[in-house]
Amino acid sequence: MTIAPAGTRTVPFHVPHTAAKQQRYLAEVLESGDLDGNGPYSARAAELLSGITGSPHVLLTPSCTSALEIAALLLDLAPGDEVVMPSFTFAPTASAFALRGAVPVFVDCHPDTLTLDEESLRAALTERTRAIVAVHYAGVACEMDLIRRIADEHGIPVIEDNAHGLGATYRDRPLGGFGALAAQSFHATKNVHCGKGGALLVNDEALVDRATIIRDRGTDRHRYFLGQVDKYRWVDLGSSYILPEVLAALLAAQLEEFDAVQRHRHRLWDTYHRGLADWAAEQGVALPAVPEGRAHSAHLYHLVLPAEEDRSALLDHLRERGVQATIHFQALHTSPAGLRYGRSAPGGCPVSERVADRLVRLPLHTALDDAQAEQVVDALLTFRTGAGAPAGTGPRTRTAGSPRRKDLA
Ligand SMILES: *Cc1c(COP(=O)(O)O)cnc(C)c1O
Repeated sequence: MTIAPAGTRTVPFHVPHTAAKQQRYLAEVLESGDLDGNGPYSARAAELLSGITGSPHVLLTPSCTSALEIAALLLDLAPGDEVVMPSFTFAPTASAFALRGAVPVFVDCHPDTLTLDEESLRAALTERTRAIVAVHYAGVACEMDLIRRIADEHGIPVIEDNAHGLGATYRDRPLGGFGALAAQSFHATKNVHCGKGGALLVNDEALVDRATIIRDRGTDRHRYFLGQVDKYRWVDLGSSYILPEVLAALLAAQLEEFDAVQRHRHRLWDTYHRGLADWAAEQGVALPAVPEGRAHSAHLYHLVLPAEEDRSALLDHLRERGVQATIHFQALHTSPAGLRYGRSAPGGCPVSERVADRLVRLPLHTALDDAQAEQVVDALLTFRTGAGAPAGTGPRTRTAGSPRRKDLA
């Protein structure tokens, strides 16, 4: 058992960002007594989001999940309709559509960017396909030109699950502006947050009015406030999807610091990327790939290890050195609900399965300083994978003939 050297601090995996003005804004809302949402801080947060994403219509929601649920309601899905999406994503990407009776059809991802594989996407399309959900994993854009071309050929909309991608671009255009709809997350684990929150970006003008109604319990209350009707009524399906003003105040304070948050995160991300390049090449470890024409959002820094047993060994190795690292998504097509409500594209999702078993996320947040990022890099540089270890050079070696856990099972 290795003990972290004296003087090193534990590096926590995640600490939610704290914005300088958040306490003041929260106090102001509480004093105002105007708590239910759609108030001045909601307007401020929506305006800031519009500025970052270029999206003209921003509806704040209690989560990214609820934004996806509004998107699913807007699609008027019927049982048996299909929505194509990556397998390597978070449960609500699929659940929001399955709730409407649609079948999530799971597509594989590229082994380098971990975003939607267009070949697999094409193979998944049928005459029942009603939408494509593009997830910009780690805030690296999907190949949007190709995906939009495929969607246009089939006359179906693209919906962006942009939970990771705020501030990222594809060919110099912000993510969140490519789909008819895009869902943002402000969960405490995201770059900026309000504990739990989200937004629906409505880029298709024709959907704005109905999205507003669905978010407000299926009523046309917004028309009443605009003086267009003298009483508001229940006019459509909907739910209670308006973000409370207290959380909007927290979100506004965070979004005002967005540029500084992003600068901090990018600096840490670059420290990892520079510091780990040679080691990763030697050890057969894949670092994040950001293709030409895409600028990422520094949401995650991840490593894909050559084998599953390398991952558990690495997590132990880092823990012993005071570094909290963790795994990420399990491929949805192999999950209990994924098997029950969805199906895989022809050819399956072998890359998603491989990556789910081998990926590690490193600490990346604004409470982390440069010295701690260097501590993380140093801890990694002393680790050897089974694939990369020249025998006897590292603290852990495995000779070619020794059995792997899978072979023993
Ligand atoms: C975080 C996340 C969500 C859900 O966000 P909530 O705001 O917690 O509902 C959806 N999709 C992806 C890819 C996520 O990472």
